[in-house]
Amino acid sequence: MILQLDDDDLASCVSCGLCLPHCPTYRVTGDESASPRGRIAAMRQVQAGAPLDGAFTEFMDLCVQCRGCESACPSAVPFGRLMEGARATLAAETSYRPWWRRMPFALLGHHRLLAGATGIGAIAQRLHLVPRSVTRRLGLPKLPFRQEPLAATGTDVWLFTGCVMDTWQRSTHAAALRVIEAAGAGASLPGPGGDCCGALHLHAGLLDDARHLAERVMASMPGDAPIVVDSAGCGAALKDYGHLLGTPEAARFAARVQDIHEWLAPRVAELGWVPAEARLPRDVAVHDPCHLRHVQKVHQHVRTALSPFVNIIELDDEGLCCGAGGAYSALHPEMAGEIRARKLEAIARSGAHVVASANPGCSLFLAAAGVDVRHPIDLIDEVLHGR
Ligand code: SF4
Ligand code: SF4
Repeated sequence: MILQLDDDDLASCVSCGLCLPHCPTYRVTGDESASPRGRIAAMRQVQAGAPLDGAFTEFMDLCVQCRGCESACPSAVPFGRLMEGARATLAAETSYRPWWRRMPFALLGHHRLLAGATGIGAIAQRLHLVPRSVTRRLGLPKLPFRQEPLAATGTDVWLFTGCVMDTWQRSTHAAALRVIEAAGAGASLPGPGGDCCGALHLHAGLLDDARHLAERVMASMPGDAPIVVDSAGCGAALKDYGHLLGTPEAARFAARVQDIHEWLAPRVAELGWVPAEARLPRDVAVHDPCHLRHVQKVHQHVRTALSPFVNIIELDDEGLCCGAGGAYSALHPEMAGEIRARKLEAIARSGAHVVASANPGCSLFLAAAGVDVRHPIDLIDEVLHGR
């Protein structure tokens, strides 16, 4: 019982292999150990008493945690939960997460420190002190010197702001506030503590840190108003707080969370009729972030919200992961690059000029490869408000 995983969860895999073609690491390597089935088999062995050795750590660590396998699995194996549990045990029982690998995660929950580090990075970029290899590996955008202030527009909903997105892509939050207002609602901004959802900590196995951040986020947005999220990864994390914390309060909080497209889709008529000549004159391919498609399962709402404003083109890769995976692209640059190469081929085949992505990690990673990536809300805002 060393992995402390639920035996029923582990036993639910019948080894059919239907998930294998949907696993990005298996597609690249062809190795069973890099497949969902192989990883579950390794978890079972450790659960039965095999050692937590380096090979097991590598098998777990190479997983992008995209959860494409969950969508494909006919037996409803909760792979995300299994992988989070395995990594939590590795972090607690082995040297999987030494202090120096935990430091960047600690920064995420301290907004002022992150903003300060971003300002220093912006200066270093302008002085050409940041090597291109580092920029490419981290998928760094042109960092802002300072943050434009955001202002609440009402109390109908909360707009969750988060950490990296609020620091590097705050203009999308500003666009979200305008689009929410155009749909007839006003948005509040989170109080102290609403600056990191803990998703990256959970993926890294840092369970206590993720729970601490979840408690802070819940306290930052009290009441009953819906919580609207414009980052797919953060939205998936907030919707899982009931499971993460295991309290009725956390379950009630999680039930208030909606991805912004999920919130907008039934209200899109409120935005007004858009004449054909006002639509964006570029074809837009929709990239489904894994945490929108496989975890929240609200990727169709993006199309509903976006379709009055742009001509949408579908990619032909059945939503295969782009390789960003939160911090994955920085930790496994070669594998992430090979996974991304397949996504880039699909984008090229589509002939689209612009790619819409509702997750900051995917956007940064695809943009680092030269793709013109925009958040769907930015595109809607551009048509509505000419920005
Ligand atoms: S989460 Fe993604 S990378 Fe990991 S096993 Fe499942 S499909 Fe493969
Ligand atoms: S995880 Fe699901 S799809 Fe994959 S081998 Fe197991 S039962 Fe089959």
